[in-house]
Amino acid sequence: MKDLESEILALEESSSLLEVSNQDQEKLLHETKEFTQQFINDLPHLKAFKSNSVKKEKLQIDEQPILFSDILKVYKEEVVDNGIIAASEGHLGYIPGGGIYSAAIADFIAAVTNEYAGVYYASPGAVSIENEVLDWLIKIFGFPKTTVGNLTSGGSIANLIALTSARDYHNIKNEIITKSVVYLSPQSHHCINKAFKILGLEDIIIRFLELDDLGKVKTDNLEKLIIKDQLSGLNPFLIIASAGTTDTGVVDPLQEIGDIARKNKLWYHIDGAYGGFFILTKSKSDLFKGIELADSLVVDPHKGLFLPYGLGAVLIKNKEAVFKTYSHAANYMQDALHDSTPINPSDLSPELSKHFRGLRLWIPLKLHGITPFIACLEEKILLTKFIRNELIQLGFLVGPKPDLTVTYFWYPSILIEENIFNKKLMDLIHKDGRVFLSSTNLDGRFVIRVAILSFRTKLSTIKKCLGMITDSLKKTISYFE
Ligand SMILES: *Cc1c(COP(=O)(O)O)cnc(C)c1O
Repeated sequence: MKDLESEILALEESSSLLEVSNQDQEKLLHETKEFTQQFINDLPHLKAFKSNSVKKEKLQIDEQPILFSDILKVYKEEVVDNGIIAASEGHLGYIPGGGIYSAAIADFIAAVTNEYAGVYYASPGAVSIENEVLDWLIKIFGFPKTTVGNLTSGGSIANLIALTSARDYHNIKNEIITKSVVYLSPQSHHCINKAFKILGLEDIIIRFLELDDLGKVKTDNLEKLIIKDQLSGLNPFLIIASAGTTDTGVVDPLQEIGDIARKNKLWYHIDGAYGGFFILTKSKSDLFKGIELADSLVVDPHKGLFLPYGLGAVLIKNKEAVFKTYSHAANYMQDALHDSTPINPSDLSPELSKHFRGLRLWIPLKLHGITPFIACLEEKILLTKFIRNELIQLGFLVGPKPDLTVTYFWYPSILIEENIFNKKLMDLIHKDGRVFLSSTNLDGRFVIRVAILSFRTKLSTIKKCLGMITDSLKKTISYFE
């Protein structure tokens, strides 16, 4: 017995190193503060995009401890100074968000206290905070109080959960799969296709809907299409609309699509991962009329509420539909089961243990209030208007007026085929890197996108962006001349 005790105690010296002393905590926090402050202060002067190659050997895990300051040095050189600086005001590619500081602090607190936010029994407070955040979303989007929801790692998993519910509500399995029909915009996000594959629905019939000149789903023939499919023995079960398309920044006619879905008893899903939070703005809230008709809705606070990556959300009206796949009573969970307890996040998600991610939205909302978030969203709408006006002045063609803050442009070159010219222009913009833009392909046309959603993007950023575009345009012209 004594031997066992001394064997255990002999390990303590080393195993206790994982409990960092107060003094070392101070040191780590101090160095972290210096590092992150410097990072934020440097942001306005840094390029938004750099393409260096990663020195992999520097990242290798050697199992020997090294100094924290050395770790930060490697992090700066290999991670921060490489690729898209997603925290930069100049990140105008894909869908940016920025990453507000107060959410990072919340992550830190959530991690130190390590609350278990998977089940109510384990941390009633943490789960209640997650449910408060969801209740807030339920209120914003006008969903009934009985709606359930989940805070996910992002929009892709949120869409997956929503589509699982649609599948299970309509019992799409076995031989019904190949007869089942979904209606969606060709501008839907590709995570929807991934979700179908994960869900065993890759053999369903996908009907891409026609778009109008603005890029919104046309509803004129939608009902006829559904009825025709029904009459020919197929099984229409799902319509997906976008509240903010990733490529073109438009909101589909949510009310009209919702009415058709309801009348024909189809599950109505809305993907608002990019655009959903514009419902909070005065100037755009009208576009979101009808969003409350959805059976399921996805939004991404790490886009429209400017949080660091790692927070999406899904709301679902039908609790049974989502519980069918995700609520599971395992023996080792028996202490956690009581009928009267509030809903457990783990009953609506593939996850059991998870980061307490509700805190990273709850703390910022408590700390800042909602006003600065709305001001940021309104600001981005006006900045989009501004850059479009300026691009036209510079001789560019721009896409149709977007509803939100993603727009695109191209140069009508006569020097060489348009796509080749604009591809070269994109390359030179990436080489410049002052601001990061990304491109897309719309009906065979190579276009350059501008996505304005980082909370740090200001008028001065857009002016810097226009300067960069002007310089790159000149270089492209002289390249082909
Ligand atoms: C970003 C996006 C997604 C995917 O969300 P992630 O958070 O990147 O997983 C889905 N739909 C739309 C419309 C998006 O913009």
